[in-house]
Amino acid sequence: MTESTPRPTVRLRSALDAVAAYKPGKPAEAREGVTAYKISSNENPYPPLPSVLRVVTDAAASMNRYPDMGVSALTQALAERLEVPASHLATGTGSVGLLSYLISITCEPGDEVVYAWRSFEAYPIVVAVAGATSVQVPLDADARHDLDAMAEAITDRTRLVLVCTPNNPTGPIVTETELRAFLAKVPEDVLVVIDEAYLEFNTDDEAPDALGLYREFPNVAVLRTFSKAYGLAGLRVGYAVAREEVATALRKVATPFGVSDLAQHAAVASLEAYDELAVRVKALVEERERVRTALLDQGWPVPQTQANFVWLPLGEDSMDFAATCQDAGLTVRPFPGDGVRCTIGETEASDRLIEVAGKFRSR
Ligand SMILES: *Cc1c(COP(=O)(O)O)cnc(C)c1O
Repeated sequence: MTESTPRPTVRLRSALDAVAAYKPGKPAEAREGVTAYKISSNENPYPPLPSVLRVVTDAAASMNRYPDMGVSALTQALAERLEVPASHLATGTGSVGLLSYLISITCEPGDEVVYAWRSFEAYPIVVAVAGATSVQVPLDADARHDLDAMAEAITDRTRLVLVCTPNNPTGPIVTETELRAFLAKVPEDVLVVIDEAYLEFNTDDEAPDALGLYREFPNVAVLRTFSKAYGLAGLRVGYAVAREEVATALRKVATPFGVSDLAQHAAVASLEAYDELAVRVKALVEERERVRTALLDQGWPVPQTQANFVWLPLGEDSMDFAATCQDAGLTVRPFPGDGVRCTIGETEASDRLIEVAGKFRSR
């Protein structure tokens, strides 16, 4: 071994070879006279509510202490609000934290996790890190889950199914009827997780009542987050609702003290202030419809969306479109060869997106 070619001396798990290292996204570039906007991460554009900021500031005064390990105030608040036993709740460092706990509690190496593709970019990562195997079932022509094909993809090795509704990054929901028909086909020992990160933005009456399904089907878990509609992405807190055995297992594997007191207090205060937050969510939903209509008018085949983003199925032009947006001071999220996801944020950002998309379309 020469000095110029050092070889690793530490043995790492080979499962990690399949995992791409995280590359942080470029921040929107500042340019003279142009406000830059980041519409790439489905963040809420509104600043924290004063009432929420106040409890977080107060909680910061005790940061020399470990947080409440049981996350008891938030668990209690959620139990009351959702009318579920506290023993059926587990909290985590964002719902991404809970996703890896869900895989840890269900999958031995080589066990299979079935989910639609394209869907949330974290799914393949958390599955691979756990040493489990992803079984990705292509979305249908309308960028929706193909639940019949997903049911057929279930094998003896399947331990977990992830259903993302509304689907990130494409936008459509699965309906209650579709999900019920699907659940009837899933073996009872396979856990089905309904990932509702964008629940609050959904206005479609046909959307599933995920909590109702959890009450009816013992193998259903519901995953939710404070990152999107509640605007707490930077504090990392989400929760799962599931039967006691599942929720207890999630609490066993959870990162100890993962949910900070800042996050816990902010989440409780946000639940209390939800009426105020709902006004903002409603405005974002109206803005989403305005943007989607404008893009459809320009001829873009934008799928139905019930989330806080729109999907442009640009295929091979995805990177080119993202670069054009970047030049205009807009950071969007391209998925090479597939499409571009654009978050509904500030009105000026939406106006600029519509303008850039119009020019790109007619070039
Ligand atoms: C944003 C998102 C999450 C939540 O992420 P957090 O870790 O809670 O911030 C979960 N699922 C999907 C599909 C998402 O898009």
